Amino acid sequence: MATLEIKNLHASVAEEGGEEILHGVNLEVNSGEIHALMGPNGSGKSTTAKIIAGHPAYEVTDGEVLLHIEEDEFEGVDIDDDQLTWNLLELEPNERAALGIFLGFQYPAEIEGVTMVNFLRTALNAKLEEREELFEGEDGDDEVEEAGYDTSPMEGNVDDGEVGVAEFQGILQEKMEILDMDEKFAHRYLNAGFSGGEKKQNEVLQAAILEPSIAVLDEIDSGLDIDRLQDVSDGINALRDEQGTGILQITHYQRVLDYVEPDHVHVMLDGKIAKSGDASLAEELEDKGYDWVREEVYETA
Ligand code: ADP
Ligand code: MG
Ligand code: MG
Repeated sequence: MATLEIKNLHASVAEEGGEEILHGVNLEVNSGEIHALMGPNGSGKSTTAKIIAGHPAYEVTDGEVLLHIEEDEFEGVDIDDDQLTWNLLELEPNERAALGIFLGFQYPAEIEGVTMVNFLRTALNAKLEEREELFEGEDGDDEVEEAGYDTSPMEGNVDDGEVGVAEFQGILQEKMEILDMDEKFAHRYLNAGFSGGEKKQNEVLQAAILEPSIAVLDEIDSGLDIDRLQDVSDGINALRDEQGTGILQITHYQRVLDYVEPDHVHVMLDGKIAKSGDASLAEELEDKGYDWVREEVYETA
């Protein structure tokens, strides 16, 4: 189990006199739960996601973003008591990822001739290596090696701690079956021009390979036709059902929630969570729009 805890988060645009965008966001997402973060354009949803990801455009002026993990969170990794809570805002994006936060697919811009499968294997190995460094400390590796211990981060890995080509093939196959994806997909080249919908499917596939505790998916539903929306949604449900990933699904539209049923729905207005509820809140929003929440909030304020 892991919990992403956002506490009283205030953030501004990172420039002199930068305007405050988030005015005290509170949100808790456990692994295994699906949370929908909804709200009108400009309410601060993407800013929240980018701050979780460590985007340099924003400065956090107050509050915290914490990740709580349990002792048995990562197979084969020995976690000390003082490593159970992490202050994400102090960590680099790749360290956050190594701790089990997934923040959307990054397309490497200038790499020619790299297939999806190679890219995904590299991403998985980078994450495992980073994780080992985080839990062993800066130069723990050397000490461990000198003492003659096996430093591989997972069982069944090849000697250098990397997931090898053959082993990765097995992992990929298993994940593509779970996601009901065609394996041909993984052998396409990164720069070969994926369609918008295929890019979203790549995002889900990458999340399946990296097995995050918490995945933040910002507008993964935007611009998808209904068939592709169904496929991507099935993939998101599989992440939760098959590997217990907690999902923070950011969306402007109620439509995707017909396919991915959230346990919790939060409405963001003007840089704050204005209202939270269960799936029925999303239906209410579809009927009545966001102005209804705004009226309710300002009446009782
Ligand atoms: P949402 O994702 O809910 O549509 P955003 O988080 O993208 O909203 O934006 C929230 C508000 O912050 C908007 O008014 C937007 O213009 C502003 N904003 C976001 N990022 C920046 C930035 N880098 N520089 C200036 N203003 C920004
Ligand atoms: Mg947005
Ligand atoms: Mg350790």
